[in-house]
Amino acid sequence: MAKLITRDEWRVVVTGTIDLSLPIGPRLQVRVKDAVIPPQRLGDFGWVSMSDRLASSDIEGDYRRRCEEIIQALRAQHPGVTATVEFDATETCSHCGLGWDEWTTESAERWPDEDYVVGEPLCCDEAQGEWRAARAGVA
Ligand SMILES: [Zn+2]
Repeated sequence: MAKLITRDEWRVVVTGTIDLSLPIGPRLQVRVKDAVIPPQRLGDFGWVSMSDRLASSDIEGDYRRRCEEIIQALRAQHPGVTATVEFDATETCSHCGLGWDEWTTESAERWPDEDYVVGEPLCCDEAQGEWRAARAGVA
């Protein structure tokens, strides 16, 4: 596979009303919109901190689970909120390590004389070769 998708900057995004009232006292509610709750870093154990890579063999899966735990805890305490897991996805090429770039329909309209095919990778010969071979059914 030439196209690698890396997901990082995991977070929970919360919208809704959070009730902060104590059992005795005035009613305290805070409305939040797109409030961001970052999960605790995988390698952060409080008393010791290490890299995520050392702490986990499935970094993306562990962050997703951590975010889902935050959502469950939130929903249990604050039924009036909606919360979703978000992340930044980065596409890179497994051959050259550069950001993934491919010929799109927009590129084809802009440079009609080029003979690339839509979907064809542009970063390096290896990715291109692999893509062409897969397309020809050889891979
Ligand atoms: Zn490449």
